Amino acid sequence: MVSAAASAAMLAGLCPTPVRAQETPLTPNQARAHDIYKQLIEINTVDSVGSVTTAVDAMAARFRAAGFPAADVQILTPDGHPTKANLVVRYRGTGHDKKPLLLLAHLDVVAALRSDWSMDPFVLTEKDGYYYGRGSSDDKAMASIFVANLLRDKATGWKPDRDVILALTSDEESGDANGVEWLVANHKDLIDAAYAINEGGGGSIRNGKPFSNNVQAAEKVSVHFTVSTTNSGGHSSVPRRDNAIYELAHALLKLEHFQFPVELNEVSRAYLSQTGASDTSAAGAAMRAIVANPNNRAAAATLSADPRYNSMLRTTCVATRLAGGHAYNALPQTATANVNCRIVPTQDPQAVQATLARVIGDTGVKITPLFPLPKSRAAPSPLTPELMNAVTKITHDLFGSNVLVVPVMSTGATDGRFLRAAGIPTYGVSGILSNGDSHAHGRDERMWIKSYYDGQEFLYRLTHALAGGK
Ligand SMILES: [Zn+2]
Repeated sequence: MVSAAASAAMLAGLCPTPVRAQETPLTPNQARAHDIYKQLIEINTVDSVGSVTTAVDAMAARFRAAGFPAADVQILTPDGHPTKANLVVRYRGTGHDKKPLLLLAHLDVVAALRSDWSMDPFVLTEKDGYYYGRGSSDDKAMASIFVANLLRDKATGWKPDRDVILALTSDEESGDANGVEWLVANHKDLIDAAYAINEGGGGSIRNGKPFSNNVQAAEKVSVHFTVSTTNSGGHSSVPRRDNAIYELAHALLKLEHFQFPVELNEVSRAYLSQTGASDTSAAGAAMRAIVANPNNRAAAATLSADPRYNSMLRTTCVATRLAGGHAYNALPQTATANVNCRIVPTQDPQAVQATLARVIGDTGVKITPLFPLPKSRAAPSPLTPELMNAVTKITHDLFGSNVLVVPVMSTGATDGRFLRAAGIPTYGVSGILSNGDSHAHGRDERMWIKSYYDGQEFLYRLTHALAGGK
């Protein structure tokens, strides 16, 4: 997934501004997190060439060495995928009437070529106030923080009111052994929880100061549709009016001019009303108006002009790939386009497919899902007072009472979709603030050092606030 911080900064329309470096020496808890972070970054967990299992073994060894019972440190590997292990650790609480809290992070990273980077992507490099390395922001920061915080809890003897489960998984980015999907299907009992904390939130820094801390409580569903035409073809020296490429082009032009209706949900409404409350521009006024009346066409028009806000209002579908013809001197027999839809979580993908067919209105144009449509819907997770009050209090304590806590519906996908579809509400929240310069998935991926340790403290306090105990 595009890192939370990056999408948060993108949503806030921020440009990178230098912020003050971490000046004070690391505390023992920070030093432990740093060591785990370095260990994880320096294990290549890229789907095609690396091994998540190596990282899982390394983290399991740390938990066992800290005295976690073997039964509470489980390594679970799908058959036929020896490099795609998943680690599930249970930190036992005292109460059994409350369902556990689940902490989730993926250990795999997207590919990184040494030749593309200005340093080795699989060595943790500290430079100019940043930690550099593949996965430094997506997603080994949260993974290492969760591990370090639970080891700290073990050392201090913390007794939460409910069990805290940590799942470190494979293939979130790519590959055919997605760990969360597999755990839900094969070991749901080991990860079942009242709710989960995951990547996908993050926060933003504006003019060197903390600006917002986001809570991702919903995500749009990414679905690819293949739109194709066929034709009998022939020699291009004798062209006819019917043509596979033209027919497809006409269909795509209709899609270009079509907009799905505004469809808000609890999370996108909260995002628009909160962002609109502090935004004095025309966009801010439109946000407040559309929350009051989703059928307000003028407000919708204003917001739709900005791609960021447009993606918050509705399902979007856009052509992303095109292919056609088989020879330069032959009339094309086939033409194909890929249309990527980002579907709001309250809308049925099959209904979206039907809408595309209606808009195109040409039975000669076939529309088929590229991959099987998601079986179950990942409904937005409720913005419960228990979670939102805890996030808000800790955000204000750590970053200042003027920092916004904004629920967001992300347009990118996380493994939260599998948990939500399995009935486990999931929240992307980390307290890791950025000004949009993490370069997640890109070259020289990095994490602002101060943001990493602020995130460690934030997640430590949040886990304690949500799991209770002392
Ligand atoms: Zn990620």
